[in-house]
Amino acid sequence: MKIFVLNAGSSSQKSALYEVSNAALPDKAPEPLWEGQLDWLADSSAQLVIKTYAGEKHSETIEKSSRQEVLLYLLERLYQGSTKVIEQISEIDIVGHRVVHGGADYQSSVVVTPSVKQTIQALTDLAPNHNPANLEGIELMEQLLPDIPQVAVFDTAFHSQMPSVASTYPGPYDWVEQGIRRYGFHGISHQYCAQKTAQILKQELNSLRLITCHLGNGGSLAAVKEGKSIDTTMGFTPLDGLMMGTRSGAVDPGILIHLMRQGMTGDQLDRLLNKESGLLGISGVSHDLRAVQSAIQQNNPRAQLAKDLYLYRLKACIGSMVMALGGVNAITFAGGIGENSDWLRLSVCESMEFLGLKIDNQKNNSSPVDTDIATSDSKVSVLVIHTQEDWAIAQECWQLAKDNNLTNS
Ligand code: ADP
Repeated sequence: MKIFVLNAGSSSQKSALYEVSNAALPDKAPEPLWEGQLDWLADSSAQLVIKTYAGEKHSETIEKSSRQEVLLYLLERLYQGSTKVIEQISEIDIVGHRVVHGGADYQSSVVVTPSVKQTIQALTDLAPNHNPANLEGIELMEQLLPDIPQVAVFDTAFHSQMPSVASTYPGPYDWVEQGIRRYGFHGISHQYCAQKTAQILKQELNSLRLITCHLGNGGSLAAVKEGKSIDTTMGFTPLDGLMMGTRSGAVDPGILIHLMRQGMTGDQLDRLLNKESGLLGISGVSHDLRAVQSAIQQNNPRAQLAKDLYLYRLKACIGSMVMALGGVNAITFAGGIGENSDWLRLSVCESMEFLGLKIDNQKNNSSPVDTDIATSDSKVSVLVIHTQEDWAIAQECWQLAKDNNLTNS
């Protein structure tokens, strides 16, 4: 079965083609036949990088008259030119899309129908940087492959069964009725990390209490009990919770009232909190933790504050997850920061020593991937996981295709 995955973020478009057996899924994520990434530079230009299983690499800057044309050009690289891996696009059996916001409507992945598209559209207000890009990919694939099933895999789905004490904001009760609640995001990654953690530890997911830390440009934590997300740090939008690259995370809403009274508009506040805050806002240097770290070496005090604040808030939120779970068997680090930053893992783990957690420094410093880096006598395991959202989406497609008899191949 050939499964094509489109994973649209706010500033990038990742895509991958997997070929898997119809009979069973492999235990480990296979290498995709073909992987393409677009980093949007402006509205209709992008940097394109493609890799194939056979080792072919291609990169170029594309300028077209619309985003759709850029996307089409990306897709053509599947069956044309040096990165060609199929003869024609109709060889694709099923397409999976990451959809960031599924609201309260979707607790699991679904086959795309007109009503699913309407819901994704209706939720654009809540994820303005993501849902329109997700819908754009769905509509393009519908035009190209009208008879092929498409699947929406929601970043909110994994958190959709959180208990109401975790999902409710203590505002007026009207909010509950209007759907103003904590939805949570990065669910595809948190779920993948939780499953992978159980697999690596050779334990049943149902028997574990886990904290999964997805720390990339955006960042969130999930408290996973018996395989279900029971709490998470992102909320109604992906702005809540941890300090991030350019997002503030949780701040006193009174600050926003104060700024609005001073004349700031909703759009200005949106920009301030989503694009001009976090590591970038405090350091004034960069949204990238590596650049902040370099600035600290140049004795930049704002960079030092940004790093200290990032760590402080991360640790405080982990504490809150420990309490939600009532104990913890493992903490899992993933995402660009979680996977690559050994000093961050060390600092977090040292703050968790009171729980009997002991990190193995040598393992931590050896660029670990998909492994436990706690000492053998540690009471809490420490996992570093290379999260594979695209493979997780492909797995969902495979399962839905099986359950609903969707493909002929
Ligand atoms: P996204 O959330 O956009 O998918 P990633 O998960 O790829 O992002 O994470 C990107 C971030 O990872 C970068 O902004 C950078 O701060 C961080 N990062 C990558 N490598 C390192 C490293 N070696 N040390 C610290 N941070 C790193």
